[in-house]
Amino acid sequence: LRLSNASLDRLPGQIRRPAYNRSDIRPGIVHLGIGAFHRAHQAVVIDDLLAQGASGWGIVGASLRSPDTRDALIPQDCLYTLAVRSGAGTEHRIIGSVLETIVAPANPAVLIARMADPATRIVSLTVTEKGYCHTPQAGELDEQHPDIVHDLQHPDAPRSAPGFIVAALARRQAAGTVPFTILSCDNLAANGHTAKRIVTQFAALRSRELARWIEDEVAFPSTMVDRIVPETTEADRASVAAALGMTDAWPVVTEPFTQWIVEDRFPAGRPDFVAAGVQLVSDVTPFEHMKLRLLNASHSALAYLGYLAGFETIAAAMTDARFAAYARQVMEDAAPTLEMPAGTDLAAYSVSLLQRFSNPALHHRTWQIAMDGSQKLPQRLLAAMQDRLRMGLPIDTHALAVAGWMRYVTARDEAGGAIDVRDPIAAKLKAIADSAGPVADRLAPALLEVSSIFGTLGGDTRMRSAVTQALAKLYEVGARQAVQEFRPV
Ligand code: NAD
Repeated sequence: LRLSNASLDRLPGQIRRPAYNRSDIRPGIVHLGIGAFHRAHQAVVIDDLLAQGASGWGIVGASLRSPDTRDALIPQDCLYTLAVRSGAGTEHRIIGSVLETIVAPANPAVLIARMADPATRIVSLTVTEKGYCHTPQAGELDEQHPDIVHDLQHPDAPRSAPGFIVAALARRQAAGTVPFTILSCDNLAANGHTAKRIVTQFAALRSRELARWIEDEVAFPSTMVDRIVPETTEADRASVAAALGMTDAWPVVTEPFTQWIVEDRFPAGRPDFVAAGVQLVSDVTPFEHMKLRLLNASHSALAYLGYLAGFETIAAAMTDARFAAYARQVMEDAAPTLEMPAGTDLAAYSVSLLQRFSNPALHHRTWQIAMDGSQKLPQRLLAAMQDRLRMGLPIDTHALAVAGWMRYVTARDEAGGAIDVRDPIAAKLKAIADSAGPVADRLAPALLEVSSIFGTLGGDTRMRSAVTQALAKLYEVGARQAVQEFRPV
């Protein structure tokens, strides 16, 4: 038996299911990048809103890469299980807000038509940092990016997120349809502004008039999203099947905590987000910096150093008191770089993060978080380092995490085994590492010269010396010992 509309009433009684008639729901949102995170975060908010009667806000989910999500969800009428795990056990709930899935490479015209449909009022995104086809340090469109080059040649059969957005907006402009609002939910600095810059720059390569229309008419509110959603494993599928008494090929597993803060700029309309616990604000920047520099920064630090030290998951690394103390130090060092609204308690926020990282029921792999470091370092670690240098403060805590990333991208672990480094510029990083050799004095300066990641910070002598010293320590005693011995200046 498999999860589907027809089998919903055969689920055990305690399992929550859509509290609305799915056939009454019409789509209002197209989501690009229907991965695990979207299905455990925004789609749950929409599921809550549909239960409150917001029937025009169903989701059409698109994959810009793999057909795996569609292939798993279509036989299930796009239903899937949300498994919320804590020390106290697991709560299962069936989510019904995704109405349809589209695989963009197979059907680019169908996706563009859906996005251009006047019923679509929001296009949201979780296409990962690299999906923006930008230079992560400067936040500008990378005009040499193979997908961007392709999309300029094939504007009606694009591959990239900016390519699809601009194709659909061009269609709407020509038809005199109001533009949709673009809602980035990726972990980028100033995600709305960044999305706007990239989309407008791409549009300008097609038509200056179109770019001007986007500049003037399209809203790109920034958002802060927070919920830890590890990749689903076979073991997760088995435990969900046992709880459901039927198969679900595509469940998502997450923690109890969830947060979504959104700038309230939706000229084409929006659902009543507040009714589902979303915070609407006029400027999300301080919250976004707080999350990137405390949560994501310490997550990345634990990922690189933890992976090198042999910890498979974040929770495992957190069982080592020195790793936990080091993660707390990353947060403490980032705190002075933040300008928070009055009443924000950063100490309490940090304590809650450490508790969430320690959730033993979540198997969030260090390897997964370590992915795409070239796209993540600037907003998570480097921006805070830059601010600390400006303030005359030491940067050795963050430097150890950056050194961990450098050691990691050599693609050789401490025992000489291969590391499966996933990153859009993995080959380039490996080539730099190979030619420098395992020598901190050569490797650190060579990697700091990658300006798409480090920008001008790479040339700062204090940066060079702190990172080189930390990398030397990693080569000398290994990650576990380096974290054991680490004491902030
Ligand atoms: P996932 O691997 O489950 O899904 C990623 C999605 O992005 C897939 O639909 C994939 O097709 C698409 N994608 C990948 N590369 C792309 C590219 N180059 N162009 C366009 N689309 C591309 O990952 P996820 O857990 O859903 O996370 C996605 C993003 O959500 C993260 O990168 C992050 O920005 C944000 N996020 C995730 C979490 C989390 O805990 N998982 C928390 C906060 C924010």
